[in-house]
Amino acid sequence: MPTKLAAGNWKMNGVMASLSELDNLSTQMGTPECDVMICPPATLISAAATQTSDTPIAIGAQDCHAASSGAHTGDLSAPMLRDAGATAIIVGHSERRADHAESDADVRAKASAAIADALTAIVCVGEELHEREADKTLEIIGGQLAGSLPDDIQTGQLVVAYEPVWAIGTGKVPTVEQIAEVHDFIRETLIARYGADIGSEITLLYGGSVKASNATDIFKVAHVNGALVGGASLTAADFAPIVAALSAS
Ligand code: PEP
Repeated sequence: MPTKLAAGNWKMNGVMASLSELDNLSTQMGTPECDVMICPPATLISAAATQTSDTPIAIGAQDCHAASSGAHTGDLSAPMLRDAGATAIIVGHSERRADHAESDADVRAKASAAIADALTAIVCVGEELHEREADKTLEIIGGQLAGSLPDDIQTGQLVVAYEPVWAIGTGKVPTVEQIAEVHDFIRETLIARYGADIGSEITLLYGGSVKASNATDIFKVAHVNGALVGGASLTAADFAPIVAALSAS
């Protein structure tokens, strides 16, 4: 069975004082039967990793450069993020694909860089609303998977997050049937690409307006092994119940 993971993406939110939420989360979630990760802004990774070192909370990053060092002003490499305390890196989030014009090839290079530095790559894919309405969802997801995922991965190096762009931060959530269709498709695609031993063990996350009120139903869907959570990961009061729902699933 794939490892279950509740991952929080704080995006461009949080200052040092916000790290008190990690203490609150640790207290409120106890010892969950799933992995738990928070991806704060890069400025907080080092302090967050130190603060959570005696807890089940892992710390991840939200992006990396594909190169390991060099003349790339303002960018951060996978080795730098690992040195700061990250154990995983989100790559290909739709906000980065849109705001920074990241292509599938860019995302694949970043995922490869993370994996090469012993970090887990959390690769995001997802269709836009007009693509779903044009009945192109699986075609879009298939293309993103083909272009964004690295070859030759081992179990534990890759997590795939299905995040319909129209569901992120909007409060709109696909039906469980729609989530099931895409997750079935992603699982089949991963097995075809990497073989059954690896493809069936890759953790698949759903992301897009996950909250305590819908988490239990989403976690019942086949091949949903957890969630990538934005807004509802910012406070322990919102995130701990999602962790509890996954733990109980
Ligand atoms: C995200 O940005 O990855 C996300 C899923 O955001 P939200 O939970 O706020 O929709």
